[in-house]
Amino acid sequence: MLKYKRILLKLSGEALAGNKEFGFSNEVLESFAKQIKDVHEKGVEIAIVIGGGNIFRGISGMEKGFDRVTGDTMGMLATIMNGLALQNAIESIGVPTRVMTALQMPQVAELYIRRKAIRHLEKGRVVIFGGGTSNPYFTTDSSGALRAVEIQADVLAKGTKVDGIYDKDPMKFDDAVRYDTVTFDEAISKNLGVMDTAALSLCRENQMPIVVFNALEEGNILKMAQGEDIGTTVKN
Ligand code: UDP
Repeated sequence: MLKYKRILLKLSGEALAGNKEFGFSNEVLESFAKQIKDVHEKGVEIAIVIGGGNIFRGISGMEKGFDRVTGDTMGMLATIMNGLALQNAIESIGVPTRVMTALQMPQVAELYIRRKAIRHLEKGRVVIFGGGTSNPYFTTDSSGALRAVEIQADVLAKGTKVDGIYDKDPMKFDDAVRYDTVTFDEAISKNLGVMDTAALSLCRENQMPIVVFNALEEGNILKMAQGEDIGTTVKN
């Protein structure tokens, strides 16, 4: 049984690198593509926002001497490269896709137009949103939240390397406990590190539930779509 009919799947760029520090892992691309195909075949509408952390992040660019806006622009371009990589992987196994970018780049991909994006979804195409929000000082989590609200998705599913939200860093503390559910207020006030506050506030204001789950474990994207008890749900 499917819980969600339209999903905004936010995939971190970092996950695309697999075990590497930088770039792409073919295994991860193939795994994401296969998992997305499995969910698509069940008739679920899937839109994807992809991050850029495996290539470039604005903040780390500042450490290298780039100004923030330049760094963020480079980060947004990185998300488009990731979008194309993901498109390639998904289409190579027979699922129609469209990449839409928030930055004008007509030779590369369609410009993001909300109504067009919804039309693509209705026609059964997997839509990949690149270019973030097109604005510096934002993250792709915020882009995920914004697009989820705009296309009226049933859920913002954040697929990461960890299997949910913990009360403290599970990498550092053995006794860290994973939450099944947290409220937006808790996630913001306790600074649980789910997403940045801008993304959380947008979801809170618009009653957009978030599921944080490990998308690297094969089969988890389908489990999430079926509403199985994986990861942590953030809701009002
Ligand atoms: N970015 C931006 N505006 C946006 C989305 C992204 O400036 O609306 C930039 C920002 O520099 C960010 C980078 O793009 O660091 C890559 O995105 P992000 O770090 O969110 O990727 P992820 O952590 O998911 O890999």
